[in-house]
Amino acid sequence: MMYEFKVSEMAEEFGVHRNTIRNWINAGTLPAKEGPGRKYLMKFQDYQALCDKFGREPLVRPSSHVDLKTVKQIEKQDVEPLVLGETSSQFVVDASMGDACLTCGSCASACPISGVSGLDPRKIVRMAVLGMDQELLESTWPWKCTMCGKCEEACPANIQIIGLMRKIRGARERDLVPGPIHKGVQMCLERGNNLGIPKDDFVFLCEDLGEELAEESCPGFKTPIDVNGARVLVTVNSKEPFAEPDDMKWWWKIFYSAGESWTISSEHWEGVNWGLFSGDDDAMKIVVGRIVDNMRRLNCKILLLPE
Ligand code: SF4
Ligand code: SF4
Repeated sequence: MMYEFKVSEMAEEFGVHRNTIRNWINAGTLPAKEGPGRKYLMKFQDYQALCDKFGREPLVRPSSHVDLKTVKQIEKQDVEPLVLGETSSQFVVDASMGDACLTCGSCASACPISGVSGLDPRKIVRMAVLGMDQELLESTWPWKCTMCGKCEEACPANIQIIGLMRKIRGARERDLVPGPIHKGVQMCLERGNNLGIPKDDFVFLCEDLGEELAEESCPGFKTPIDVNGARVLVTVNSKEPFAEPDDMKWWWKIFYSAGESWTISSEHWEGVNWGLFSGDDDAMKIVVGRIVDNMRRLNCKILLLPE
């Protein structure tokens, strides 16, 4: 037996937005097919399952004309039992994402890179809900996302968009991850920082800059490396010692003026965790773990991550 309905009727019946019903249909969680006169058709047992899910009795509506050809097509299909909230995508962080997203576009409006390469966060969420995993994997768009979080802030349905981006990134073969990020992660794991700066060079540079600072404007300043018991442990973006070492003096001056107790670790001082950005959870954990070890080793109370 077939059940015939309009999206607006179904939405009213189950107390959800019309878009939610369309999302269920598009995502395949509601196995219905377009029927005649802007109506949809589904097997009655699927409608019954939906009612059970919502703890309500099926509503018997007078059925209008049902196209028998369409019915046969539907009945021939091997339709899986209806399970609300399920999706075939490996990227969906929360199973309710497809049901919860209102397709309002607030995320797309808030995103600074909306429209670049023809995509935006709303489309990415839709693609995930529709199970377009291969297209998402091959798309460069998730790699253009800055993970700024503006989309999530704007989303009225609390969809975890950043988690989705990370999942998409994390699913890529590692040698297909954009070169600099991939190399940065490897370098950090092997040599302690994203640019592979040797420990001795880093310590020498910091001490040298400290002496310059003492001569220039901060009498008595000495770069605090591995100071046990310092209040603040500061991590460093490897770009600074590599390309703009003088920039470090600016925040050192602030600490000096404030009389702060702080230190930099001589090892594993990298503050930019590209495991986070590349969706590589294992790498991310290792880098975070090293910082935690430094905090413990040096007995610091506060961690400062300038990134
Ligand atoms: S803001 Fe949230 S609910 Fe609206 S389209 Fe984006 S993900 Fe969906
Ligand atoms: S986190 Fe990514 S998708 Fe969201 S607003 Fe920022 S750039 Fe756009």
